[in-house]
Amino acid sequence: MDYFAYRDGELHADGVPASEIAREYGTPVYVYSGGAFADGLRALKAAFGGIPVRICYSVKAASNLTLLGIVSELGMGADIVSGGELFRALRAGIPAGNIVFSGVGKTAREMAEALDAGILMFNLESEGEMELLAKVAAEMGKVAPVSFRVNPDVDPHTHPYIATGLRESKFGIPHGEAPGLFARALGLPSLRVLGLDCHIGSQLTTTGPFADAVKVMANLLETLRAAGADIRYLDLGGGLGIRYKDEVPPTPSEYAHAVTGALAGFPGLAGLTLVIEPGRSVAGNASILLTRVLYLKRTPAKSFVIVDAAMNDLVRPSLYGAYHAIRPVRESAPDAPVSTVSVVGPVCESGDFLARDRELPVVAPCDLLAVFGAGAYGFTMSSNYNSRPRAAEILAEAGSARVVRLRETYEDLVRGEPI
Ligand SMILES: *Cc1c(COP(=O)(O)O)cnc(C)c1O
Repeated sequence: MDYFAYRDGELHADGVPASEIAREYGTPVYVYSGGAFADGLRALKAAFGGIPVRICYSVKAASNLTLLGIVSELGMGADIVSGGELFRALRAGIPAGNIVFSGVGKTAREMAEALDAGILMFNLESEGEMELLAKVAAEMGKVAPVSFRVNPDVDPHTHPYIATGLRESKFGIPHGEAPGLFARALGLPSLRVLGLDCHIGSQLTTTGPFADAVKVMANLLETLRAAGADIRYLDLGGGLGIRYKDEVPPTPSEYAHAVTGALAGFPGLAGLTLVIEPGRSVAGNASILLTRVLYLKRTPAKSFVIVDAAMNDLVRPSLYGAYHAIRPVRESAPDAPVSTVSVVGPVCESGDFLARDRELPVVAPCDLLAVFGAGAYGFTMSSNYNSRPRAAEILAEAGSARVVRLRETYEDLVRGEPI
């Protein structure tokens, strides 16, 4: 089902006219579809059929408490990368036992918080981290459940900033070093190795790299099991891509099929529980960013549409050169005049753009535009640069809308700044 569709000539978000949301809550504004977000989670779970799988939603993609509440209601878990995300996930009611903790730079304090909460497991990324966690856990009189995040050295064919499973990456343990590290972990009584983990990158649009990674991991898992490890979880991270422009990413079932197909070559691994950490594939197309046209500006070189959203609201175009579809909220006729424009924000950087040299129907000041595919790494990457209060977040669901995060005020900007 398409949760962002034109009806009676106007874009609707999960049954609510986008213009009504803009009028009521102002712009720029992120509008999530509760239906799209929940469907994305359910579809992934369903794709694995009867195979034991835990879906741990990647909190960093979009992390407001309402979305995390949906995750919790569906009985699913969370993949976190900081103490702040742990706080959010717990606050939203996600049981600690459904939380996995990833990331290369966990601090002692974050480790203690997660041990205190009783999370499912820590995904360890280096020997130094393993030793620190063992020490923190021993001091607390606890045994830390861990998995090793291994770098399988497969090319995900994605943007270099979001490729994480290549040899040159800062992420994971080189797969050749995992057995040695495992042997050392056996000598640390405050650790219990429960899993193996990888996350090779984001916005993957083919299944091949996932299948390749599964094979590397499964081989390693057999080696570790032979060495006496009681490994129950194989965590495959996230990474499934979405359509921003004309990509044709694998469907959840094609993805699940690739994973289970690769595992079928390892009958000894039956009974293993898979962990999947989807972020973008669940949240990405579950939100649009609504923005209003402020000015049209024509220079001898270019035509600009200056809007009230900027790189501080949605940094992906500036950071990755990412493409986001942009369409007027009022549906334009198929034969409406078009022009080639750059859609830019008010921030004082030439890198502040939402689209460059894009063919768009001709727009006028005060028109509303929708930036599609803004749900993942959209609001969560937003900032206060240029002292711009961060946008409101709205949840639309089955024809009604409500605020899930208030628009920031000027007072919010200076909170915590003593004079
Ligand atoms: C970011 C991240 C994810 C989510 O990735 P997506 O591409 O958004 O699905 C999953 N696991 C880890 C460890 C991550 O860092």
